[in-house]
Amino acid sequence: MPVIKASEISLQMAGGVEKISSFSEDGITYFSMSQLASLLGDRLDWERAGLSIKYKSDRNELIFFIGSPFIRTNDSVANITYPAILRNGQLYLPAITFIQVFDRIRIEQISWNENDKIIRFDSEWYTINDLTFSPKANGLLIEIFVSGPTNYEIFPSDGNWINITIPGGTINQRQILSHKSSEFLLDLNAYQLDGSAQLSLRLRRQIGKIAHRFQPSPDRIQISMIDTLASIISNKEDESIGPDKLIDRIILDAGHGGSDFGAIGQKSSREKDIVLDIAKRLAKLIRKEKIFEVVLTREKDEAISLQDRTKKANDEHGDIFVSIHANASLKKIARGFQVFFLAPAKNDSARAVAQLENAPFLSETGPYNVDENDEIGYIISDMIQTEFQVESADLAAMVDKEFRRSLAETSARGIDQAGFYVLNGVFMPSILVETAFLTNREDEDLLNDKDFKQKVAESIYEGLKRFKAKYENN
Ligand SMILES: [Zn+2]
Repeated sequence: MPVIKASEISLQMAGGVEKISSFSEDGITYFSMSQLASLLGDRLDWERAGLSIKYKSDRNELIFFIGSPFIRTNDSVANITYPAILRNGQLYLPAITFIQVFDRIRIEQISWNENDKIIRFDSEWYTINDLTFSPKANGLLIEIFVSGPTNYEIFPSDGNWINITIPGGTINQRQILSHKSSEFLLDLNAYQLDGSAQLSLRLRRQIGKIAHRFQPSPDRIQISMIDTLASIISNKEDESIGPDKLIDRIILDAGHGGSDFGAIGQKSSREKDIVLDIAKRLAKLIRKEKIFEVVLTREKDEAISLQDRTKKANDEHGDIFVSIHANASLKKIARGFQVFFLAPAKNDSARAVAQLENAPFLSETGPYNVDENDEIGYIISDMIQTEFQVESADLAAMVDKEFRRSLAETSARGIDQAGFYVLNGVFMPSILVETAFLTNREDEDLLNDKDFKQKVAESIYEGLKRFKAKYENN
């Protein structure tokens, strides 16, 4: 005659301690799996006319057979020595053996303390919990989920390996290695060393530029492989704007306005006035010839957020977006025109221009990450217009060529790429033109000269027509 004692055991989790009904039979403690599943937020369902019960969580499926010690786990069978018991409509399992099986399949470390009658869920035990891959329009984002702020080191090695060392880390090898067959990987290793953990990923793609940062809630290390322009061009050779697509609507964006003066010259010229003047001259040229239609993001001296500018461009279904600016530098000798398209900045000076032009965005939305890790914010934002990166680079080159032809008074600084928020989210080929430097005395004079401003407008216009000729119906 078995000795049966009804009582309770404790479930200890991050959220506190819960009670679960239990009984012991011949010295073996059984607990209610029905109650445990419900506390975990998982499902327990009857199967096959009451012969078996299925447990289902996000990642796992277990099938219990009443009266049998065998359990079907995700892809194999386990033996818990003592049978699953149905009692008062609940499924009871032997704690001493089942908790070991449960520990193997769950992410958390789970243990059974026979003396204290406690099932302990210790999700804090590992500090490196999981890994995800997210393909983005302009690269690949890898996220390593950790249990709190942590130091780490990242170093690439030959053969497209990326190695991440986390000092003091405890790695959940089972969970991490479950991604070994990821479509993005050729190989994956997870090592628990004394005093540190190491993760090595061998990627399928060529490792180009890497950016990384720690990001809270949830705590994770983000690593992005940013596709270089060269790789984008080589991947997109067949693509063009499309045979039936007319390029007939230009969005002109005069930078700054209202309380945002933009750059200010030594003679107090204000960027917001000069660029509006140039935009209006260009609009007039466009309206005269009627090859294109034109929409201005602002026609007077008013403050418009960068978001509203891009929204207007998209709402008006523009085919090309041109943002007009004048540059500034602490180096008063810096001068010349430069044409930018949107892509991660490749050098400090391009990044500096982007920071200058992004400044209104910062003041509008509060703190936002535009330090040197800006690129990772950029890759994460899933920017659709990387679709137009090749076209944008081409347009920048065309406008630059026209500038070189007609703006001999100042110098050519070339085309470059940087992360401008005003271009971010514009679903069309887009460029940002820095006409000349307001902080340079000669350039400032030019920017106040109506002939020069007219030539800037004409040059951009010629560039737009060349672009149309190349991409439309082609
Ligand atoms: Zn500006």
